[in-house]
Amino acid sequence: MDKILRINMGADGGPKIKVDSLGDYAGLGGRAMTSTIVAKEVPATCHPLSEDNKLVIAPGMLSGSTAAMSGRISVGCKSPLTGGIKEANAGGQPSQMLGRLGYAAIVLEGKPKENNLYKIFINKDGVDIKEDNSLCMLGNYDLVDKMKAEYGEKIACISIGQAGEMKLAAASVAFTDMEQRPTRHAGRGGVGAVMGSKGVKVIVIDDAGTKARSPADPDKFREANKTFVAGLRRNPTTGEGLPTYGTNVLTNVISEAGAYPTKNFQLGQFDNCQKISGETQAETENARGGEGSATHGCHRGCVIKCSGTYYDKDGNYLTKQVEYETVWAHGGNCGIDDLDAIAQIDRLDDDFGLDTIEMGATIAVAMEAGLAEFGDAQAAINMVKEVGKGSHLGRILGSGAAVTGRVFGVERVPVVKGQAMPAYDPRGIQGIGVTYATATMGADHTAGYAVATNIMKVGGDVDPLTPEGQVETSRSLQIATAAVDSTGMCLFIAFAILDQEDTFQALLDLINAFAGANLTGDDVNALGMQVLKTERDFNTRAGFTKEDDRLPDYFKKEKLPPHNITFLVTDEQLDQVHNY
Ligand code: SF4
Repeated sequence: MDKILRINMGADGGPKIKVDSLGDYAGLGGRAMTSTIVAKEVPATCHPLSEDNKLVIAPGMLSGSTAAMSGRISVGCKSPLTGGIKEANAGGQPSQMLGRLGYAAIVLEGKPKENNLYKIFINKDGVDIKEDNSLCMLGNYDLVDKMKAEYGEKIACISIGQAGEMKLAAASVAFTDMEQRPTRHAGRGGVGAVMGSKGVKVIVIDDAGTKARSPADPDKFREANKTFVAGLRRNPTTGEGLPTYGTNVLTNVISEAGAYPTKNFQLGQFDNCQKISGETQAETENARGGEGSATHGCHRGCVIKCSGTYYDKDGNYLTKQVEYETVWAHGGNCGIDDLDAIAQIDRLDDDFGLDTIEMGATIAVAMEAGLAEFGDAQAAINMVKEVGKGSHLGRILGSGAAVTGRVFGVERVPVVKGQAMPAYDPRGIQGIGVTYATATMGADHTAGYAVATNIMKVGGDVDPLTPEGQVETSRSLQIATAAVDSTGMCLFIAFAILDQEDTFQALLDLINAFAGANLTGDDVNALGMQVLKTERDFNTRAGFTKEDDRLPDYFKKEKLPPHNITFLVTDEQLDQVHNY
């Protein structure tokens, strides 16, 4: 990966393509690449939908190689949802394909002068960009079908649905999976709205005629990969729990722990959680059968395989195996206990190009405002359809939970820096509350997954219900995560590398053998800290202060059943998280 593709969408005479050498960005990948480019090239105070913002799409450092788990991709920009820096991460095929084609990043710059839509085609012979207004307001599924008819079955797509075209702050960027379906999303922070503001509907990638990237030391690389994969298979979470039940294995676990946000964060347990649990979901999927219903990966090279396929009652493909965060967001958080309805909403979210977490949190806020009853699945489906139609109500909902709460006068709005909280109540798992409050991204469980140490006792054992040890836990996880997000590795490898020294060493050996480097654990830590410092510096320049590193007040006042506990970590403690 020795080049950066830059496309100036606002150039005189139409979009202009330029292929740059890596320059100062050499050696970076994934989140390190997106955040460094955004911090250096985007004015921190610019409007996120203006010509000054840039959308950066970057495969990880190891993407395009044969390293297991290395096909994640990062999307970065200034976020229309938070107003700060954003990195949203996704699976799918494009990361490996861009890596094989040699692109370390795609940077969309400027803004078209006319209201036109464009498609970009990238293959081994170069890059082509064409105006195509026939794609206007297509959902991701129809769009990908159209691209396959035009460019062949073996392509991958990076695209936006209607929400991105409408520049809604909950809009995602979709990535096609191994079956060429647009099911993998860089969901958070409204990155799809920024792609929409650039006038780019789809980037089509064809890697025919390319080879996997070669490691500097192939023998050591092969050996390290073998040990790494064996470590992932040996670990109970990555080797058994995730492949068998998917991420939704967490529904029963988190509800049992009393930290499952229910009915817009009013309760910590959902009475009907069994009906939407990973166990019930796996049973349903296996009973309905069909191609790919069993466990499979979201990209080539995934060996954990936490994903699968969801078929409807008649055996027709509906959506990918719905993930825990989505099942919670559209399920328990809205009081809904119907897996088929949740899967239908997941399909709509993917088609319109919407962040499932933000949309679920938004619908729950709307339910609290009285727009529908908690538990009314049809009303939830109708609300998402309003977003796809672009009605006035739909545009409000598609702007996220914070805007919806403001419009309908709701106090209980679970957001930090404008971004909705995911599927863990910060009162029941205090460590994740620290991450929500202090992450550079706004409320984001993946930024420092303290659920691991608080609940699963992976990488340590910290009591979820006390403030002690939470700052240190969140800090070290935020640093480690920023580094992993830069490699292109799926974050789920953390379950194995946090507890198994030889698996962590194998990961280091893999990176070193690939790059011809000699990195130690300290170097990886230093990379994580550097990424976080870069992101925090951008946010400071954008106007954020320590007062933005806080949870909404009600978490400190309202007690969450069943533990009847508030968020106990003090502001002074939160201010210590980024002292490194
Ligand atoms: S473990 Fe799951 S999320 Fe991670 S790469 Fe594999 S399928 Fe994708």
